[in-house]
Amino acid sequence: MSLPLHVQAQGVTKSFGSHQVLTGVNFTVAPGEVSCIIGPSGSGKSTFLRCLNALETYDAGTLAVNGQQVGYDYRDGKYYEWSNKQFAAFRSKLGMVFQRFNLFGHLSAEENVACALVEVRGINRSAARTRALEELRKVGLANHSHKRPHQLSGGQQQRVAIARALAMDPEVMLFDEPTSALDPELVDEVLETMKLLAQEGMTMIVVTHEMGFAREVGDTVNFFDNGAIVESGKPNDVLSNPQMDRTKAFLAKVL
Ligand code: ADP
Ligand code: MG
Repeated sequence: MSLPLHVQAQGVTKSFGSHQVLTGVNFTVAPGEVSCIIGPSGSGKSTFLRCLNALETYDAGTLAVNGQQVGYDYRDGKYYEWSNKQFAAFRSKLGMVFQRFNLFGHLSAEENVACALVEVRGINRSAARTRALEELRKVGLANHSHKRPHQLSGGQQQRVAIARALAMDPEVMLFDEPTSALDPELVDEVLETMKLLAQEGMTMIVVTHEMGFAREVGDTVNFFDNGAIVESGKPNDVLSNPQMDRTKAFLAKVL
């Protein structure tokens, strides 16, 4: 197994047309760290995660994973854009969990977890099935593996999505508001699954509105506003003793 990833962003900017969405993001995540990102809607959090896993290009700044610039190779004093194969190899190191679970409706939980192992990794069906069942067991769904998404609750579906990401052996897990689409009573089972993952030492970047999770599980909390991280630090410092007026105003609304 390769080393866990170290993520570093410095002055990352990104515009859509004339609209500058990222205005200079500085951000570091050490291997094994759980880094939570909070902040108002529309501030650029999702765009930043998409730049991080190379689903979106960025305009300027440094975005490096294990010291390597995302999207480019540096050789002979010049930058070369990655090939599609290099992009795919990079993305496969990152697991991504979205607000909407994006499961295939016609496949069982087990097939949803196994299919990428077969299609992307070329693992044979029976080994993929064994691995899928193991991941479903870890997220507490051993007895639901035969069910299709519509037979599962939203919380269970999101746990299938987490199992599916974990089956690919990611070195970092990115979560983009994984509980925002859930009914309130289903939020905890998903957060509990994420907490177990954190305890196993997984490097995690979590965009969330769940301040309790950020406080309890996060190693750092980063407050994102207007396209940049304007305050970051230990959860207790940022959440209980924010220094910036903008952070105070945001927390006053959500806490
Ligand atoms: P957040 O996740 O913090 O709510 P987003 O990153 O989704 O914020 O969006 C930040 C801003 O970028 C918003 O104003 C949004 O409308 C805009 N935006 C996001 N994606 C695109 C896109 N593909 N094209 C144009 N504008 C976009
Ligand atoms: Mg978002």
